[in-house]
Amino acid sequence: MIPGIEVIEGDITQQSVEAIVNAANTSLLGGGGVDGAIHRAAGSGLLDECRRLNGCKTGEAKITKGYNLPAKWVIHTVGPVWQDGNQGEDDLLASCYRRCLELAEQYEIRTIAFPGISTGIYRFPLQRATKIAVTEAKTFLERHPLVQVIFVCFSRQSYDCYLAVVKEILGEEG
Ligand code: ADP
Repeated sequence: MIPGIEVIEGDITQQSVEAIVNAANTSLLGGGGVDGAIHRAAGSGLLDECRRLNGCKTGEAKITKGYNLPAKWVIHTVGPVWQDGNQGEDDLLASCYRRCLELAEQYEIRTIAFPGISTGIYRFPLQRATKIAVTEAKTFLERHPLVQVIFVCFSRQSYDCYLAVVKEILGEEG
């Protein structure tokens, strides 16, 4: 597989990558959306480990094992809840991607799959969030060319958005 950025449509819990990212909430004790799906697929060992982490601040990230998931690791990050765009949402979302990628670097993770952090229940506008995600991945990959970043889209609409943004920012498709 050529390292870089890949965009796929699918379920992140089924990805055979070294790490998947969870769009968690500050409690790290599970929730709806992708968080609920990851906890269901990983099994109760994940919740047990999360309980020992004492939560996570918005814009930060913490790592656990993947338990019953195909992925070895889960990197839990807490995206900002969209308010009006003037409450630091962009910087907090960029920080989520950076912190996750820093953990990937520390753990020597070569393949990492991201969902669209904050673009579900937290209502961050999809295209604006996607530009932040792709920009942060590009910046990281310039220094870590052997890493593969996979953006896992849960809808055709999100897949189309990622492809367009990747083309705009990287000048190529996936
Ligand atoms: P947030 O609270 O950060 O907005 P959500 O879980 O509500 O988190 O949504 C984040 C994104 O993850 C949304 O784009 C949603 O469609 C997507 N999503 C939900 N379930 C899955 C899944 N199983 N795999 C990949 N993406 C998912």
